[in-house]
Amino acid sequence: MLDLLIIGAGPAGIAAAFEAKKAGLDYVVIEKGLIANTIYNYPVGLTVFSTTDELEFAAGGLDPAREKPTREELLSYYVRFVLDNELNVLTEETVLSVVCNRSGVFIIATDKSSYAAKNVLFAHGAMDYPRKLGVPGEDRPHVFDHFRETYPWVKRRALIIGGGNSAGEAALFLAQEGVDATLAIYRDNWENTDPKQGCIKYWVKQPLEQQLGEHCLNLFFLGRVVEIREGEVELENENGESVTLQNDVVFVLIGSDADLSLLKSLGVGTENGKYGEVPVYDPDTFATAVTGVYVAGHFTNQRHIKGAIDAGRAVIAAIVSK
Ligand SMILES: Cc1cc2nc3c(=O)[nH]c(=O)nc-3n(C[C@H](O)[C@H](O)[C@H](O)COP(=O)(O)OP(=O)(O)OC[C@H]3O[C@@H](n4cnc5c(N)ncnc54)[C@H](O)[C@@H]3O)c2cc1C
Repeated sequence: MLDLLIIGAGPAGIAAAFEAKKAGLDYVVIEKGLIANTIYNYPVGLTVFSTTDELEFAAGGLDPAREKPTREELLSYYVRFVLDNELNVLTEETVLSVVCNRSGVFIIATDKSSYAAKNVLFAHGAMDYPRKLGVPGEDRPHVFDHFRETYPWVKRRALIIGGGNSAGEAALFLAQEGVDATLAIYRDNWENTDPKQGCIKYWVKQPLEQQLGEHCLNLFFLGRVVEIREGEVELENENGESVTLQNDVVFVLIGSDADLSLLKSLGVGTENGKYGEVPVYDPDTFATAVTGVYVAGHFTNQRHIKGAIDAGRAVIAAIVSK
């Protein structure tokens, strides 16, 4: 019988595991991918926008070459942190169901095993369901819902669809390295400067504008995507006029949603949060109304790594005081 089972080894789950170990709790982290899988999936070579104090579990561990770490520096720090602290993280194992038995014990089934725990922390992030355009041709093999790296697309024609930082960064990476790139974006998103609405951050927007000025990037003010075909994409511009772009690869980077089905199956309620549907929880303890069920990280109202780390810590404090 575990004191705590943690679902997900992102910043929230790792922070909670570190605190759980310090508190002497019997815990395990189940991670369906790799340690810090979301960071692993960032574009290769990306410099993150947070500073080290917002990313570290303990002050002074992350030592980037420049002011802000790259994906590789951050990933290395998180992996080393788990290994050096001998945190009990099981990777490539997926939690499939969580049920509470009559004694109030949680039975957690994975694709490899099953566990019994007094408490469960859902720290599974919000990357499960990449959003879809819902247009014909979106399932073609040259259409991607994430952007990994530039070099396979050099000298190709790439269309990037999206209005947030991920789309902006992908367009920038591609344009800077000689890809014939077009960013298709709603005018409102391009002109939005409110970071709370998920706009393209200014340190991405400014170099994008430079690429536009140097004619290394095309900007298309989107009305809608009509159809993705082999070799071309049919769009409507903001005036409703039909435009067909010749094209080799399409990146649909319009966000992703969390899978809240396990939480809901336990009876955890949801509400409309800052960024959409979130579980109902106590903002101090991150406890839900279901005894023993806690939430932390990207699918709550805390969208950034610092908030995820702080939440992971708060959960352990709440469990220990209980
Ligand atoms: C390109 C990019 C750049 C970003 N840059 C920054 C930045 O500079 N600063 C910042 O603060 N934030 C940044 N973010 C956001 C940041 O990545 C998230 O805030 C952070 O990862 C949230 O941590 P988390 O632990 O809540 O979730 P995640 O890091 O997403 O971790 C959740 C983990 O749970 C696992 N999991 C999911 N379901 C299951 C299951 N059923 N069973 C087992 N495991 C499961 C996943 O594989 C994943 O590893 C960025 C995001 C992206 C996409």
